[in-house]
Amino acid sequence: MMRRIISVFSVGPWLNIGSRKITTETRRTLRNQSLIVPLLFALIVSAASLMMAQRRKTTVDLIIRGGTVVTMDGTRRVIEDGGVAVKGGRIVAVSKTADIDRNYAAPEVVNANGKVIVPGLINGHTHVPMTLFRGIADDLDLQEWLTKYIFPAEAKNVTEDFVRVGTRLGLAEMIRSGTTTYCDMYYFEDAIADETFKAGMRGVLGETVIDFPVADNKTYEEGLAYVERFVKKWQGNALIVPAIAPHAPYTVSEDHLKAARSFSDRTGAPIVTHIEETKREVDDSIKAKGASPIVYLNRIGFLNNRVIAAHVVWPSEEELGLLKQLGVGIVHNPQSNMKLASGVAPVPEMLRNDLPVGLGTDGAASNNDLNLWEEMDTAAKLHKVISRDPKVVSAQEAFEMATIRGARALHLDNEIGSIEKGKRADLVIVDLDALNQTPYYNIYSDLVYATKAGDVRTVIIEGRVIMRDRRLLTLNEEAIKVDARRYRERIIRSVGVKTLPED
Ligand SMILES: [Zn+2]
Repeated sequence: MMRRIISVFSVGPWLNIGSRKITTETRRTLRNQSLIVPLLFALIVSAASLMMAQRRKTTVDLIIRGGTVVTMDGTRRVIEDGGVAVKGGRIVAVSKTADIDRNYAAPEVVNANGKVIVPGLINGHTHVPMTLFRGIADDLDLQEWLTKYIFPAEAKNVTEDFVRVGTRLGLAEMIRSGTTTYCDMYYFEDAIADETFKAGMRGVLGETVIDFPVADNKTYEEGLAYVERFVKKWQGNALIVPAIAPHAPYTVSEDHLKAARSFSDRTGAPIVTHIEETKREVDDSIKAKGASPIVYLNRIGFLNNRVIAAHVVWPSEEELGLLKQLGVGIVHNPQSNMKLASGVAPVPEMLRNDLPVGLGTDGAASNNDLNLWEEMDTAAKLHKVISRDPKVVSAQEAFEMATIRGARALHLDNEIGSIEKGKRADLVIVDLDALNQTPYYNIYSDLVYATKAGDVRTVIIEGRVIMRDRRLLTLNEEAIKVDARRYRERIIRSVGVKTLPED
């Protein structure tokens, strides 16, 4: 074999020589030729071994390489110059870029050099179509805001089309700011699921059931029938987790709450609800039912580890113990709670006791945006000032609440919330060189206190690139804004919103 290779590569130069006399020049050429032969041989061998190595590489769908990977895994590993390999919507490897390059090949490679790769953010509580009510009524307390403005505006405007337009607006805003999963509670949730799925985003989506006629259902029974169809349709979908959402213990009767719980028992669907958002809710409950909402809900057998409770601003120490024991997920909405002056949830105690507490924006009418970077920053600072202790809710804990702890709050921590082998590939690439991020020393500090939503560059959900270099790939931003402004005119006419400051 060796001789054959040599002979093949040695023939060429001889051809030119023909029958000429061998001169000194020719001899020198021959000496050089004899060096070329082993050189060529070595080249062939290394090319062959390179091909063999290529063949040993596992082919995946997508590789992200060269970034600082903030994994949020059990040991909170941060990998400098790291990468992630993705196949079939799931993460198959997280390692140093050199390891990823050595072992994996993919048709799509995203370079994250000089950037940070984080788990997709989780917005644990919102009412996504309410983006169309952004700024409709500000600077009011919850009861006045809800009964004088929101409920009447909803009664006059909410249709399936309204919900679709508002959902697309909210999805675009969330994807732009690096949110990959959100937990929702609204009406026409089937249309919300449809828009969410089309946009390629992940959602735990709860159809609201409530004891008064609403846009999509006139009675609680109609609402339950809707949820039955909705859950059946979406259960098992890779992106959508359909849920039932009894609005709150003060808007849904005991029998109806029990019906929601047995529906959840039968189908496995999560229960999304609001609990103890205001002091008034607690006082009214004690007056009417002889117990605070959490004690009452436990007494009627409503709470368990499929419940996702938004707010929980006013729990006692015993109630927190109860929530922990029952495995209830909690979603803290600092900006909404501040804006409606609802109070300050005991988040440092929740963290100290390792409760599953995530972060949410709440609807855009009480926030007024869907930006989790602001929620992280606010959560960390609000609890410091209220407890007069700068050590509570560290930057790392705030980041945990928007990722892995938020996943626990939604009972999805086996699937999302961290960058780990086997989990769904929900990944966000964030710039690290904006002026507001420069210089950086501690990655969590930079992410929570300095990074802005506009620093998010690329968003991947279920292994699919949804936003690339700040360009949304599944939603048309201009069309969304046109549609939203059209609704603005209609809403102004329907409830007489003041659009200019008074003289
Ligand atoms: Zn809410």
